Amino acid sequence: VKSTAFPQHLRKLLYPWIQLAGHRGNFLLGEKGVILKKYDQREQLAYSKLMKDILRPYVPEYRGDTLQNNERYLQLQDLLCEFDEPSVMDIKMGVRSYLEEELIKARQKPTLRKDMYQKMLEVDPKAPTPEEHTKGAITKPRYMRWRDEISSSVELGFRIEGIRKSDGVSGKNLKKMKGHQSVMGNIQNFVEEDVSIMVKYLQRLKALQATLEVSPFFQTHEIIGSSLLFVHNKRGQASVWMIDFGKSEPLPENIFITHCREWVEGNHEDGYLIGIKNLIFVFETLLGY
Ligand code: ATP
Ligand code: MG
Ligand code: MG
Repeated sequence: VKSTAFPQHLRKLLYPWIQLAGHRGNFLLGEKGVILKKYDQREQLAYSKLMKDILRPYVPEYRGDTLQNNERYLQLQDLLCEFDEPSVMDIKMGVRSYLEEELIKARQKPTLRKDMYQKMLEVDPKAPTPEEHTKGAITKPRYMRWRDEISSSVELGFRIEGIRKSDGVSGKNLKKMKGHQSVMGNIQNFVEEDVSIMVKYLQRLKALQATLEVSPFFQTHEIIGSSLLFVHNKRGQASVWMIDFGKSEPLPENIFITHCREWVEGNHEDGYLIGIKNLIFVFETLLGY
């Protein structure tokens, strides 16, 4: 097996990579232009299908798997590679962030999570119920649902997971950020009111929306926890890609979704297109259209 991981300390000096979400340990830097993400079968399957779908120009290129220190990784195009001094924003799409499958499993065999109870406490000490306080733990779907509700996910079909501008300034208190106005304010601040950048983002989002509507992949998958990665810089480069397909699950047979109807358990709707529509609306509003 050819080793593709570059000495991490050198690579970071030459060329810093920015990770806005997820566990640090899930990623390694590869050769220039490649990042390695810890292997996940569902994600691998999604990327192989996406490479043959019309959505291909909107996702990082998937270049097969590799072994590093006995761990399997997906080799993905590094989307930041072409940008010097990039500003990056991760927007998690959809009205919910857990699969229906996860709900069913949690009901059959509920496991209580102390770490998630702690995370909940840190954001809002009043959020756990008296029973949850006594146990000092909560279930995973309960935690995920709560995250969807305190953020803009349920209301707008997307939420800002992370922002890092080229000057190093990061988005603050994003977990509890909801409402059209504050979401719009944060995005406006991210693009620094640069009209040409906003126009580029808007055009790309509209092209993505049109492509999603006819994509076989999109028609046949419940897309949960996936993000749009926004990247721009002061030289006027700007683009958006879909990333993170760890919870993109093929729909069961005979289930068809619109990605914009209301979700009720069993219908598998994810609200992805609600999020796209609202994001387009945000950029149009910022541009005064
Ligand atoms: P989670 O499920 O908690 O969101 P994860 O482990 O599935 O995390 P991702 O969401 O895929 O990880 O990626 C985490 C972060 O890493 C993204 O927010 C983004 O900043 C960066 N990232 C991921 N993939 C790429 C890529 N192909 N190019 C550039 N940056 C990337
Ligand atoms: Mg993610
Ligand atoms: Mg993920």
